[in-house]
Amino acid sequence: RPRLRILYCSATGCQASGALEVKRRLEGLLAETGRQVEIDVGAVGCLGLCGRGPIVRIEPSGATFEHVKPDDAGEIVAALDGHACHVARCDQDHPFFTRQLLIVRRHCGLINPDRIEDYIAVGGYRSLYHVIHEMTPAEVIQAITRSGLRGRGGAGYPTGLKWATVAKSPGERKFVICNADEGDPGAFMDRSILESDPHLVLEGMAIAAYAVGAEQGFIYVRGEYPLAIERLQKAIAQARRHGLLGAQIFESGFNFRVDIRVGAGAFVCGEETALIASIEGRRGQPRPRPPYPAESGLWGMPTLINNVETFANVTAIIENGPEWYSSIGTEKSKGTKIFALTGKIRNTGLIEVPMGITLREIVEEMGGGTPDGTPVKAVQTGGPSGGCIPASLFHTPVDYESLAAVGSIMGSGGMVVMDEHTNMVDVARFYMEFCKDESCGKCIPCRVGTVQLLNMLTKLRNRQAHASDLVKIEELCELMRETSLCGLGQSAPNPVLSTLHYFRHEYEELIGAEG
Ligand code: SF4
Repeated sequence: RPRLRILYCSATGCQASGALEVKRRLEGLLAETGRQVEIDVGAVGCLGLCGRGPIVRIEPSGATFEHVKPDDAGEIVAALDGHACHVARCDQDHPFFTRQLLIVRRHCGLINPDRIEDYIAVGGYRSLYHVIHEMTPAEVIQAITRSGLRGRGGAGYPTGLKWATVAKSPGERKFVICNADEGDPGAFMDRSILESDPHLVLEGMAIAAYAVGAEQGFIYVRGEYPLAIERLQKAIAQARRHGLLGAQIFESGFNFRVDIRVGAGAFVCGEETALIASIEGRRGQPRPRPPYPAESGLWGMPTLINNVETFANVTAIIENGPEWYSSIGTEKSKGTKIFALTGKIRNTGLIEVPMGITLREIVEEMGGGTPDGTPVKAVQTGGPSGGCIPASLFHTPVDYESLAAVGSIMGSGGMVVMDEHTNMVDVARFYMEFCKDESCGKCIPCRVGTVQLLNMLTKLRNRQAHASDLVKIEELCELMRETSLCGLGQSAPNPVLSTLHYFRHEYEELIGAEG
């Protein structure tokens, strides 16, 4: 008889909605009835439907329950024995699940993130063994290049090209940095990957280090992610104990050590030069580029910086080959992308979809539209650096070029859905306030521009603006785009410009009588 298992999502979303109490109740019940030997209660990573937590799945049937309460423990145990269970079930035939293609999230819901044995049992660290023993660093870079993988942090720079630049840049030492300073409002993809499958990211970093010739890595993770930090610490210690990180990995000549640096919450530290300054112990402020970190990064040495999701793609490419990976997606955007679906959407959570899927398929089919059936008005992709795309353009395929063509960006994967009741000037104001608070203040266009833009939007919202103010808003947006030092200031006007472009009438309706 197959082993009976009750698996509960142990990521932050489900913990926040009471997963640990559900687990305690299940364990207590099994202890009372003497069935704790026969039935295992196990933690797994995020199952994706974060808005319906706590989520519990039973094996071997695979039945998955949502909104589980501690009092449901008895019925769930009974369901294992084939008895009726009235706890609400996730509809696993829903497009939310069936339209997904899991590459990065393939172990989520299967393995316990705290156990390296679970990761090894699903083939973990096999790719690292393979590259160290069977491939030269140049062959690894070639494989990543041929796969077509592009940086998942937002800009979409070709990953193989970045690795090749670091590999050929001269330097006494080289470094690999994993950017886990995820800060866009509504984005939680990287947090979920780290909480659900930390070894996948560590293995990707180790393969990158082997390819570029680095012996030291850092994971820069934001302090607001305590569970991700705890799981990473545990994973690093386990990997060191198993000889999978540290000196002489797999008894080869390859050494790679990884340390964690915890960020203090500044959004701008997601910008690579500010992140490097922060690791060096300096104030986290960007500097002009070039030189790019690939040539002169941490302590002036060649440094590879990729984000969490980028590193998490690496083992699948090594395992299945670059041709397999490049067969997924569109001509210029390969593979899958994880999105955090939030806002006015029925199915809040994480999805991993092949590039090229349309916004309509994501928002309406997978997301299920708005909770109360109000028509969807727009979706904001790319966080404060992105733009609002109106529902009339939901046929747009999700890839780097197509999203840029409609005035937004892919970004790191936040997708905030708005309905017909959402005022788009308020949306622009919200993102501008965020950028004003997060501006590091180093350059004037951003430091002063964000304040001025916020003031103008507030004046507009209070119906005190004139028609000429709209022109001033547009001029200031252009000026900030052209003259700000880093991406934060250059892209801060995007939500304003995109809402002005698609929803100009909402701005004009707020113009005062004398305007
Ligand atoms: Fe700092 Fe903004 Fe200038 Fe970037 S654009 S350096 S965040 S002030």
